Amino acid sequence: KYGKLYCAMAITEPGAGSDSAAVSTTAELDGDEWVLNGEKIYCTAGQRCDAVVVWATLDKSLGKAAIKSFIVPRDNPGLQLVRVEDKMGLRVSDTAALSFNNCRIPKDHILGSAEIGDTEEARKKAFGGVMQTFDNTRPQVAAMALGVARAALEITREIFEKEGVGADFSKQPYNSTARELELYRLEADLEAARLMTLKAAWMADNGQPNSKEASMCKAKAGRMGNDVTLKCVALCGELGYSEGTLLEKLARDSKIIDIFEGTQQIQQLIVARHLLGLSSKELK
Ligand SMILES: Cc1cc2nc3c(=O)[nH]c(=O)nc-3n(C[C@H](O)[C@H](O)[C@H](O)COP(=O)(O)OP(=O)(O)OC[C@H]3O[C@@H](n4cnc5c(N)ncnc54)[C@H](O)[C@@H]3O)c2cc1C
Repeated sequence: KYGKLYCAMAITEPGAGSDSAAVSTTAELDGDEWVLNGEKIYCTAGQRCDAVVVWATLDKSLGKAAIKSFIVPRDNPGLQLVRVEDKMGLRVSDTAALSFNNCRIPKDHILGSAEIGDTEEARKKAFGGVMQTFDNTRPQVAAMALGVARAALEITREIFEKEGVGADFSKQPYNSTARELELYRLEADLEAARLMTLKAAWMADNGQPNSKEASMCKAKAGRMGNDVTLKCVALCGELGYSEGTLLEKLARDSKIIDIFEGTQQIQQLIVARHLLGLSSKELK
């Protein structure tokens, strides 16, 4: 219906980060239009996008079941760009604070149904549907970590080769240098994260429930990306730390991958809930 819209996703608010069920941006139906009011922060592509997918509540007293997603065209007069953040990494991407002031959108700009559900079961299902977005996006974010780590390792290998350190697996570990062994360990870590990410993405593509695997790959890849890029900076010494190579940039860029789309701690919490068979109420 919407064609190829370049969309930002606005969930986070000053009072709602990891606990995304705490969003307090409101959506009220007024005739044939939804009226949105609230503040969103840290919205990737919030400045340059065509439209923003906004999480808002229909009734805060009904908890997370009342949270729905709405499509708001970027040029809507009720949507203001408050600021664009200056940040440590991911600097090519704009991260925006947005304000919705009596922002009116047509009634059909809601994603999914406006029903909140009469029973506890129906309400659980409603928010579960919104959260399923992450089953698709977490493997993609994990894939960002794979790319950043792979680039750092390729640069490190190039620098090593110029210095005559081949690291080509031709020797036994006990005959390898500490630098070679470190490179092998980092490559193994990257490969482990890569396989976990492919599995979670494959499950999503094939319609299999993958919440646990999506969180597992995001947690693993997020940690791996931070670890590999920082180790590459260290292995290359002053070349790694200087702005003369891309290593320092990749290390800065890797940090966010372990934060957005659910932090390392939140992914571990989700995995633990799956493994222990506990609900979000039972394990916080
Ligand atoms: C560059 C950038 C881009 C972003 N892009 C987007 C975007 O496009 N759309 C969007 O909606 N949001 C976006 N975010 C927001 C991001 O998703 C949140 O920052 C993230 O979910 C964490 O929320 P918070 O910052 O409020 O931290 P908090 O939730 O306050 O957490 C702070 C710390 O406490 C830990 N913590 C919190 N709860 C628990 C718990 N129950 N158990 C253990 N530890 C816990 C966290 O892991 C974290 O280490 C972006 C953020 C950044 C920095």
